[in-house]
Parts: sequence; C-alpha cells; structure tokens
Amino acid sequence: MQSPVHCSVPLDAPIGKHPGHLAIPYSYNLGGWANLLVPLCVISNGPGPTVLLLAGNHGDEYPGQVAIQNLWRQLSPTDITGRLLLIPTLNPPAAHAATRLSPLDGRNFNRCFPGNPQGTPSEILAHFLSAVLFPLADVVIDLHTGGRSLNFVPCAHSHRVNNPAQFAATEAFLTEFCFLYTDVAGSGLLPSEAEHQGKLVITTELGGGEPVPALIHRLTQSGLSNVLRHLGLLKGPAAQRLRPARWVESLHRDDYRFAPVSGLFEAVTDLAAPVAPGQLLGRILDLEDPNRPPLEIISPSAGILIANRAPSRVAQGDCVAVIAHETNPYA
Ligand SMILES: [Zn+2]
Repeated sequence: MQSPVHCSVPLDAPIGKHPGHLAIPYSYNLGGWANLLVPLCVISNGPGPTVLLLAGNHGDEYPGQVAIQNLWRQLSPTDITGRLLLIPTLNPPAAHAATRLSPLDGRNFNRCFPGNPQGTPSEILAHFLSAVLFPLADVVIDLHTGGRSLNFVPCAHSHRVNNPAQFAATEAFLTEFCFLYTDVAGSGLLPSEAEHQGKLVITTELGGGEPVPALIHRLTQSGLSNVLRHLGLLKGPAAQRLRPARWVESLHRDDYRFAPVSGLFEAVTDLAAPVAPGQLLGRILDLEDPNRPPLEIISPSAGILIANRAPSRVAQGDCVAVIAHETNPYA
C-alpha cells in the first residue's frame, strides 16, 4: 500500500540544499483536512554515502533536536560528500507538549515500526520511514536521551549486532561509555527496523531529565559531527579518541530494576559509579507514611550504574536503575 505522506522536497536531487517538510494527513474536530508537518531537509553533493539523521523520536528528548537544527542551518552542499537527510523532530506534537508519547494518538513512536500506511499519524510516519527513507540510506542515526523519565550516563549505544563497523561508528561519537542494550520494553523500535533492513545504525542516550546542561549540547553537537566525518559524509578528518571507549552492556532483564511500589525515589549511588552485588542503589519512600522504612533498591550484580530514575515521583513498575557490565563487542 502506498504511503499517504507528501514530501515537499526532492529526495534524489544530485546537488543542493532543499528545506521542506513531510505532510501526514489527519483529522481533528476543527480540521477535517489537516496535515501534521514534520520538517525535513535534504542536502546533496554528488556520489557518496546517504545518512538519515533523526531526533525527537520521543518528544521530550531535546539535545539531538537542537544539534540537527544547527546542522540544518549551518551546512552547505559543499561541506559534505553524498547526501544528508535531516529530520530534527520526528514527533512535533510530542516535542511541543514536552511528552514522550504523541498527544495526537497516544503512541510511542519508537514502538510503531515497521508502521502502517492506514494507521494513526505515528504509524503512517513510521511506515514512510520504513518504506521510503530507510531504503535510501546507508546509515541511520537516531539521537535519544533518557527523556524526562531516566537519567543516563551520556553514551552512544547499539544493539549487539554482528557488524563491527556499527561499533566503530558508535565509538566515533567520542562518549566515554558505549552501551549495548536490549529491547526490555517492547518491540517495534526504529533502530531494529533499520538494522533489519541492513543499515548501519547509530543511537545515543545523551543524559536525561528536564534540564539540558551546556555540556550535553556540546557533547551532542561535537559527537554528531565526528560521526559524520567518520562516515565520510562531512568533509575533514575525524578526531581520534584520547582513550579507548569503555564498552558496557545491559542485556539481561535483571540489569533493569523496576519499582516494586510507588513513592518518592531517593538516589543513593551516583551515575557512572561502580557497584557491587548487594549494593544499595536507591530507596523508595512512602509519601504518606514517614514511619514506614523505605524500600531498598539493591544491585543484583557487579557493574556500573548507567542510568537511574529522573523524576523523584515514581510509580510501581517504573524503571529506577540500570546496571551495565564491562564487555567487548568485537569478541
Ligand atoms: Zn528516546
């Protein structure tokens, strides 16, 4: 089935810079023939790699949206070799609302793949990416943070795929930690579909929580530019790492700690700190009964604390801590 998405720019122009948008038809009570506009810019300069650069998959994750907007304004065709497809905000309604999920359809865009051309706006856009944009791309970059719900040690991350080139490109983001993760919270992820189509996929978790320190913006911008140089898309030599990447992985469900009860989360262990089996990571306090002893969140294994709960209010079942273990993805 053909996509109902209208693309206002030429995806196959050989040379030039073409800012525009994708238009996804939808209806609401005051707009029977409304369109959801998703900004898209195509920058082309002859033969070379095609890189699809994405952020705002989750609306409340802003560093990648800022970094891609900056590239949108700054880059000229002569700065690159090949083709760059920029979508700074995949989910504009969620970004406006500062939410993870789309307020249009309640969907988590990162669980909508491969999508459905007859579905909700999120499903229609996911289908357009799967059916039209991914097939054009050699490399798909999808920039995330922990959003409002998780604080992450800033890292580039990847599934444990059988593709050393993907790990080398992940290291080119120049974060101290590189993180192998597994889909602990459902299927239908954007990177999974892109990997399924044989693409080299680079993703990140660049901090989280509501404030975005200047350091995180600098890390996102410089890491992204370095990856684009590493890929041969952006002209100029890629910077080499000063120290080898610290590869860690959280591939087992036990590595992800969930709140057994609702309450107030008190972090006890610092992010990126080494942890021992049985170590106290945090406590959940009862909001209504200070006499009740807090419930302790304990690390089941040795490793480092790669992420923890961002908001103090926690609901039963929320992820409150993630333990990562040293690994070698090339082994
Ligand atoms: Zn995200």
